[in-house]
Order: sequence, then structure tokens, then C-alpha cells
Amino acid sequence: MALRKWLECLDYLAKPDPVKCPNNNYCQRKFGGLNRKYHLKNHLLKECGVIINCQICSKQFGHLKSLRYHMGVAHLTIL
Ligand SMILES: [Zn+2]
Ligand SMILES: [Zn+2]
Repeated sequence: MALRKWLECLDYLAKPDPVKCPNNNYCQRKFGGLNRKYHLKNHLLKECGVIINCQICSKQFGHLKSLRYHMGVAHLTIL
């Protein structure tokens, strides 16, 4: 699932305590306690590396593949 989807259903994802990072193919992090939703969100945005910014136009991508494609199409750059 894409990061945006995760962020959209954060309320739902964060219901269990502790909540597991939905990016669990790569990451085994868990967050517990009252602020777990906030911690999970921060983690997804900053630590989990699932948001990638284009260096040229700073558009955001949930996947390296999409960024590669974008670079080729929008900036004629091969990564
Ligand atoms: Zn994670
Ligand atoms: Zn770009």
C-alpha cells in the first residue's frame, strides 16, 4: 500500500496498541501508548524512508520506482 493510503487510514491503523508499522516488509517497528498514532505518522514520514522527494521539483513519491519514472518523464533524467 502507498504511504498516502497509510496516512489516510492512520486512525484505523493506530487502533491496536501497540501498532505495527504498515511497511512491515522492510520494518518491524512498533509503537505503543497514547501517542502511538503520532509516533507512527512521524516514523512513516521521517524514518521509514517511504516518502521520497524529487530533488528538482520536490514532488513526493511513495516509491523509488515512481520517482525513477517521474525523473525520466518529467526531467529527462535517468536515475
Ligand atoms: Zn517503519
Ligand atoms: Zn520532479
